[in-house]
Amino acid sequence: MVVEPKIRGFICTTAHPEGCAQNVANQVAYVKSKKEIKGTRRALIIGSSTGYGLSTRIAAAFGCGADTIGVAFERPAAGSRTATAGWYNTAAFQKLASREGFYAKSIMGDAFSDETKQKTIDLIKKDLGSVDLVVYSLAAPRRTTPDGVTYSSVIKPIGSDYTSKTIDMRTHALATASVEAATEAEIEGTIKVMGGEDWQLWIKALSDAGVLDKGAITLAYSYIGPKVTHAIYTEGTIGRAKKDVEDSANKINGMLTAICGKAYVAVNKAVVTQASSAIPAVPLYTSIVFKVMKEKGIHEDCIEQMQRMLAEKIYVSSPATDECGRLRLDDLEMRDDVQQEVSRVWDIVNDGNLSKVTDLDGYWSDFYRLFGFGVDKVDYAADVDIETEIADLV
Ligand code: NAD
Repeated sequence: MVVEPKIRGFICTTAHPEGCAQNVANQVAYVKSKKEIKGTRRALIIGSSTGYGLSTRIAAAFGCGADTIGVAFERPAAGSRTATAGWYNTAAFQKLASREGFYAKSIMGDAFSDETKQKTIDLIKKDLGSVDLVVYSLAAPRRTTPDGVTYSSVIKPIGSDYTSKTIDMRTHALATASVEAATEAEIEGTIKVMGGEDWQLWIKALSDAGVLDKGAITLAYSYIGPKVTHAIYTEGTIGRAKKDVEDSANKINGMLTAICGKAYVAVNKAVVTQASSAIPAVPLYTSIVFKVMKEKGIHEDCIEQMQRMLAEKIYVSSPATDECGRLRLDDLEMRDDVQQEVSRVWDIVNDGNLSKVTDLDGYWSDFYRLFGFGVDKVDYAADVDIETEIADLV
């Protein structure tokens, strides 16, 4: 069938198999254009199908030559409904990795469950023996904990309500977003879902099963961003969860002392992903920072950062961390000259100059690209088979 984008709010309910495959191929080509990285040999990526997790997996496999196991939560096509973008991305990754002779298997399941953790451990034991890198890159709206309680994550300010300029994801126009302050239960729920507890559970399970290499590294991702989004992000519910991720890194470092392992939080740059488009004010900020960074020639998407992280921040003689022990991939975004220009534009942006002073087109083209639309070399008028199988799905 001919597949077209169908947008509902900040989500696209269709995905294009060939567009997604081309996106993955483009990321692979980028990594292969860079020098080989002497890094991970066997990596486990939790949240491997889209965004930062997918790019880390691509950089690990095609940059370091690593065998990879990916865990994600994606669904296949059903009737005339396309599969999710992450499903098509995973199918494309598996194909390209096996073509180059890399071991690559994927598990589709709820990463928060004990069952998926055990399945992953069994697979590592059977096929790889152990892993030297574990990347935790989940972005999820809810989590059922091992005791059967389901928590939801919300993006809300803490203490007082929040009102900000934003982009209306339906009309693409400038709008005002108002969000009520979170309740205590909502703060707790967001920490349960997006905090570090499940990362700790993964590392404990992998460590108890003896499948972590001596010197193994584990990573989780965070975001800090500019002052204009602090109330809704860093100082809001999600920021609390990210603080919990940082606290968890310290606890995991304690757990890994016996094997001389290391946990890092990598603070990444704002990019367009399925998770980030749901945050009020962030699409507007992202459109502004894209314009500023593109003009300065320092714009990056997920793959450029994840390649740079492995090549320049982690697999170097002394990992490049900030004063809190974090890896900073947002170093270019947070540069003073970039942030000063972003604040200037933030103050003057209005309905009349929105498309001139921001990179709104770039934002939307990245958004459509997430779902495989608007990708060069893809014939969108052609019929495509939407039922794509993932090779080596466990
Ligand atoms: P994303 O939505 O693109 O990817 C999320 C991944 O998690 C997907 O692979 C999805 O299948 C998987 N997933 C979700 N629920 C799952 C479950 N229950 N079981 C198994 N897999 C599940 O998200 P992203 O934006 O790449 O975010 C990844 C991390 O990077 C998050 O910690 C996020 O906070 C962080 N980050 C994002 C940005 C940004 O601008 N998007 C910036 C900095 C840091």
